[in-house]
Amino acid sequence: MSGADVSTEVMSRYRLLVRGVVQGVGFRPYVYQLANRFGLAGFVRNTSLGAVIEVEGTRDAVEQFARVLPREGPPLMSVTAVDRQERPLLEEHSFVILESESGAETFAMVPADVCVCDACVGETRDPADRRFDYPFTNCTNCGPRYSIILDVPYDRAQTTMAEFEMCEACRREYADPLDRRFHAQPNACPQCGPRLRLVVEGKERIEFASPRGILQEVVRLLLGGAIVAWKGLGGYQLACDARNGKTVAELRRRKHRNEKPFAVMVRDAEAAERLCFVSEDERFALLSPERPIVLLQRREKTELAPEIACGNPSTGIMLPCTPMHEMLFRILSEQAGRDLSLVMTSGNLSEEPIATRDDDAMRMLAGVADAFVPHNRKIHTRVDDSVVRVFEGNSLVLRRARGYAPQPLQIGRGEARVLACGAQQKSTLCLTKDGFALLSQHLGDLENYETVQFFEQTLERMQRLFHVQPNIVAHDLHPAYLSTQLAMNMGAEKRVGVQHHHAHIAACMAEHGLDGEVIGIALDGTGYGTDGTIWGGEFLIADCAGFRRFACLRPVLLAGGDAAVRAPWRIARAYLQDVYGNPAVFDKARWPVLACGELISESSIRTLDAMLQRRVQTVETSSCGRLFDAVAALIGLRQTVSYEGQAAMELESIAAEDVRDPYEFSVDAQTTGIHLQVDLRPMIRQIVDDVRCGVPAGVVSARFHQTLSVVVVEVCRRARSNCGLTRVCLGGGCFQNVRLLCGCVDGLRSAGFEVFYPQCIPVNDGGISLGQAVIACELERRGA
Ligand code: ZN
Ligand code: ZN
Ligand code: FE
Repeated sequence: MSGADVSTEVMSRYRLLVRGVVQGVGFRPYVYQLANRFGLAGFVRNTSLGAVIEVEGTRDAVEQFARVLPREGPPLMSVTAVDRQERPLLEEHSFVILESESGAETFAMVPADVCVCDACVGETRDPADRRFDYPFTNCTNCGPRYSIILDVPYDRAQTTMAEFEMCEACRREYADPLDRRFHAQPNACPQCGPRLRLVVEGKERIEFASPRGILQEVVRLLLGGAIVAWKGLGGYQLACDARNGKTVAELRRRKHRNEKPFAVMVRDAEAAERLCFVSEDERFALLSPERPIVLLQRREKTELAPEIACGNPSTGIMLPCTPMHEMLFRILSEQAGRDLSLVMTSGNLSEEPIATRDDDAMRMLAGVADAFVPHNRKIHTRVDDSVVRVFEGNSLVLRRARGYAPQPLQIGRGEARVLACGAQQKSTLCLTKDGFALLSQHLGDLENYETVQFFEQTLERMQRLFHVQPNIVAHDLHPAYLSTQLAMNMGAEKRVGVQHHHAHIAACMAEHGLDGEVIGIALDGTGYGTDGTIWGGEFLIADCAGFRRFACLRPVLLAGGDAAVRAPWRIARAYLQDVYGNPAVFDKARWPVLACGELISESSIRTLDAMLQRRVQTVETSSCGRLFDAVAALIGLRQTVSYEGQAAMELESIAAEDVRDPYEFSVDAQTTGIHLQVDLRPMIRQIVDDVRCGVPAGVVSARFHQTLSVVVVEVCRRARSNCGLTRVCLGGGCFQNVRLLCGCVDGLRSAGFEVFYPQCIPVNDGGISLGQAVIACELERRGA
């Protein structure tokens, strides 16, 4: 043997601490197989800090093992850090998987729910397989996780699967490190696992015993125009035939759901393409393991009933995410002779949390669904379907729930234990521990008792799951938000009030790991300002501890508070008053469009005008969301809305493709406090002139969008010459509008700015709790 050969035979032993999502994803069997591949001895074990691996072998082999480890591995594994330590040799000869170490200080990463994998789908389609047509098939690469976990460490005994005893065959798979189902906690088969039931008009239909029999009957009911409720992965869903306008309208009526578009489930990506335009990136999002609802542009002529979208040109599409959904679409195609699409919406009444328990669902949805498909695998934690929109190849998560929650985000900034209570709409909460932010799933609008209960329940469960006892509570400044009131009623050593738009910007900074000062642009609906007025068109110079209000949109009067939010015509009148002194110059006889069309009575217009003139029951607002409302009303597109953001969405959708010339505006220096104010009165004047001349609404909309992008670039240029900053962070609900987002991002980049926008966390108020948490941590770290 030569000298060189001897040196490669030098033995060594390393201890690797692997952090990230490495539990419940098939990580340990992967490590076992990898160690065997390189002929290494040692062990792998889950601990409170992450997975600990010790490997012993030739130096070369150990090195190769460490190099390959984070690169290969099961699809759901996500390694964030590997710490390495040399250890004394133990002269072991085999590699073993050790039991999980449990301890009070466990901070295991709780995995998110995952859509069914191809291998499992294959088995449910194979008549020779023991899981043929079994709707609860899963493995280490797929299946329920967060929704069924009661406590950590993630073991079957601590999930809602504990009550099902595995049969011999399942137990063998579960115990075999080389099997795809090694330690797959929800492992089940038709012998030992959960079962579907069918309840039609209150009667249990026991004659349909097999899952296939039940789903065949469900399909027969759906094709006959029935509304069916079934238990999905994270909650009940309501479904009906998407072609059947009468049934869709009936579903709206029964569910008390106004014009908000319904999501649609289709069998596969090809079926999605028949309904909508699907880019390569959008296809990728549809097929991703999170299986979110993807907002897509609908094609001109489709089989979808118009009642699904109510005039909105985009439709949320999702693909089957469980074996049950997959089977259902297979049977639907068999019975109908072709692929069909189904309306798939959350199993709730208007804005209440979705039902998760069978008894609750049957009570709550008794008047909505004609049939129910419950099953005996309990949902412990409610997770709604997630919603994304694709921009620049990235999925922008607009509603972060199933598939994403509770994936933690590393934020650093010390060890503070914070509970951030979020905003009011699209509420989420956020906990911090050891430099990680744990953002809850989407909870809904904190406007009813049930959602508040959901908030409190989620808080309690996340505290248990992540072993965190917060001592600092962060909250919005709005005194009327229920989240603020909840924060006030909590025992805490310290409370931190965080301005709404500062939180929007901090959330974006946290996601991109930014430190120091940035230019923060928050174009938003409404948020409480430090001066007691309503903000929402804000340019901040901010870091994660504080901010200056560098510029804002010139405020107008919001008359009658919340009433104005549901009534774009009211804010349009406020803009007219700001421009022309008295909105009454636009009387109904001469200017029917500008005077709110036919919908609004003359007397209510006169009352409003008087309120604006005398500033009675009014508050100033610089909101950009309200500006969108105003423009939508001025061009006669929308005088009233039935859900938040409706006017803005419609305005975006009609914007002419090739029109790029902006309207006029001015940016004026201010003498007090705030540095600059953006005066859009010249633009309003020009819009009024355009409307009078009969310029098409789509052209006005395009010019309006372009104006905002130019405003954004202009203000940022001034901020740059003022403070030398070149990094820009975007936040606020208006940026859900891709036309606006695209205009701002392109404009800023060509002007030499570096632009950041939220992707994994919602750009809307769903991201507020994260921003609050980050700010509270930073303040704590600085000892403020
Ligand atoms: Zn699977
Ligand atoms: Zn079994
Ligand atoms: Fe907001």
